Amino acid sequence: MARYIGSSCRLCRRENLKLFIKGDRCYGDKCAFERRAYPPGQHGQKRGGKHSDYRVQLREKQKVKRIYGVLEKQFKGYYFRAERLKGISGTNLLILLECRLDNVVYRMGFANSRNQARQLIRHNHFLVNSQKVNIASYQVKVGDVVEVKEKSRKITQILDAMATVVRRGIPKSIEVEKEKFRGTMISLPNREEITTPIQEQLIIELYSK
Ligand code: SF4
Repeated sequence: MARYIGSSCRLCRRENLKLFIKGDRCYGDKCAFERRAYPPGQHGQKRGGKHSDYRVQLREKQKVKRIYGVLEKQFKGYYFRAERLKGISGTNLLILLECRLDNVVYRMGFANSRNQARQLIRHNHFLVNSQKVNIASYQVKVGDVVEVKEKSRKITQILDAMATVVRRGIPKSIEVEKEKFRGTMISLPNREEITTPIQEQLIIELYSK
């Protein structure tokens, strides 16, 4: 599977926003965005001025792709699915992304970042409704129970993440039973729960051209 292997911090600086891609490091003073809050590259500090509509829309799309760790082809697939669903396409798009298993594992506090969640899922550390699932893009449905495998409950990364989840909080659409190492999606994610500044309508406008 194709994946981005460049610098994660560069992406935050490009989008001019902390995307929290690196987990723990994002909360400390080693965060590159805190130290150099301007775009990367030789001319990073000189860029500015007026931006075309296209550029603004493109940046919004890139930002969301980077937050959820999804590449273009898959992201476009989410857009087409969001368009076919009832309701506002932009909101549908975000809900589909929020329901990805890697995002749900991160939101439940079993991983410090979506990247880490993806890796743990690929290494078979999670069950969904008691069945082994190792696909990060798996769509979690309302009522699904996501659980850390019994053998994996001593993994330091998972324990650390569970201890530090308070700093970002758990959304209301998710119920976590920490002592049982499991969580349930009790409702679809609500748009208001996604606190990262995202203007999803710009992405829809970009794709509808
Ligand atoms: Fe972004 Fe800072 Fe995390 Fe790097 S450490 S990924 S710049 S939030």
